[in-house]
Amino acid sequence: MSNLIPSRNLRDWQQLDARHYLHPFTDAKALAAAGSRIVARAQGAYIYDQDGREIMDGMSGLWCCGLGYGQERIAEAVSRQLRELPYCNSFFQCAHPPAIELARQLAAAAPPHINHAFFTSGGSEANDTCLRLIRRYWDLRGEPNRCYVIARENAYHGSTIAAASLGGMKAMREQFETLDYISHIRQPYWYGEGGELSAEEFGLQAADALRGRIEELGPEQVAAFVAEPVQGAGGVIVPPDNYWPAVKRICDEYGILAVSDEVICGFGRMGEWFGADYYDWQADLMTFAKAVTNGYQPLGGVLVGDRIADLLIAEGGEFTHGYTYSGHPAACAAALATLELLQEGNIIRRAREELAPRLQLRWAELADHPLVGETRGVGALAALELTADKNARDRSAARFDTKGKAGMLCRKFSLECGLVMRSVGDIMVVAPPLILELRDVDELTARARKALDRTAEALGI
Ligand code: PMP
Repeated sequence: MSNLIPSRNLRDWQQLDARHYLHPFTDAKALAAAGSRIVARAQGAYIYDQDGREIMDGMSGLWCCGLGYGQERIAEAVSRQLRELPYCNSFFQCAHPPAIELARQLAAAAPPHINHAFFTSGGSEANDTCLRLIRRYWDLRGEPNRCYVIARENAYHGSTIAAASLGGMKAMREQFETLDYISHIRQPYWYGEGGELSAEEFGLQAADALRGRIEELGPEQVAAFVAEPVQGAGGVIVPPDNYWPAVKRICDEYGILAVSDEVICGFGRMGEWFGADYYDWQADLMTFAKAVTNGYQPLGGVLVGDRIADLLIAEGGEFTHGYTYSGHPAACAAALATLELLQEGNIIRRAREELAPRLQLRWAELADHPLVGETRGVGALAALELTADKNARDRSAARFDTKGKAGMLCRKFSLECGLVMRSVGDIMVVAPPLILELRDVDELTARARKALDRTAEALGI
């Protein structure tokens, strides 16, 4: 076989990158000036750059490589599948064993009221599909007026037009025309938006925003509420404890469909199969992607509750939606191998009983740092708020003059200290691989502290 990827030095790769490759969610001008960080290989919980420098991947790729890198069994399953049946569509009454088996296993992992899966190539397509299913459900129910979908500010649900309309990130929404039937309510972000309220008071108020919006739009016109159990890309927004029970009651009371976006929270990230399980939230639809294949293949989908699937099947009529790669055999094979590894290694139980307690304990110790206003987390998700004034009573007064500058600095120093830590404005987040050794958890937080020290020094705090 020819050498598909020639050997080049770092500068050559960076120049070619700037010349030909438009990166997602990137300022192309800034990237061309700075030169991208070229990653050469990865193993376990670590990535390695071209110089062979080892960096702990505190973000599991993009929240997707829960089992870390070097998982031979997944690579082998994909390779075997590509040799046996590399492609098969699921249109025209066709199917193939990997997709059927994966749907069966996902139904087994999901709560009892969910027994069907629809496949896509990623999380954005999963959320698009979800909107189509919501629409189809209410049409079949004879309530076509239920057109509004309520989501939350600062949410990330993907980047296609529909998924980005569901999203509530201001900067994203400014760059395109959003769908007009999606309405956003406040997020349960107590540190940033709770003001003088206690977490409990704020939790109820944030949940009550859902009731308020349903009443405002007209209960007979509201179709669904879509949210992540813990808002991930928004900055690991862990809601107050009373938030989800209250939201659940409101969804039930008005009979609207509840949708849990599990793209980040699913597959052990919160120490349960799904984030909704953690909050005992029986969502009607659950969208998933990322860790379902450990990031080894692009696969996403929607887990469809009986309330919807039974109606689709009983009423019949074509659901006019699908993708060429819905249920791609190689992607399904990667997912099946991932599920097997999760189960065999008791990874989710370990995440809940060992990794999460250690990570949350160590992470909370960072709260004493002069630059840290709050630490928070759940399962293998953790965040900290960088603050300009730790002792400010009013948290909004403790913000930096230029939003995001401290976060960017901290991200840069973190990399220099050998840790991938993500910045969301001035919030630092981590979501390490679930296979992380406990001593590596200590190392992760030690490196995070070093990065905080260097950031504080650079900011003169
Ligand atoms: N939903 C959530 C909660 C996500 O975090 C993401 C991706 N970060 C998506 C949806 C979109 O997934 P994808 O990038 O696979 O389209």
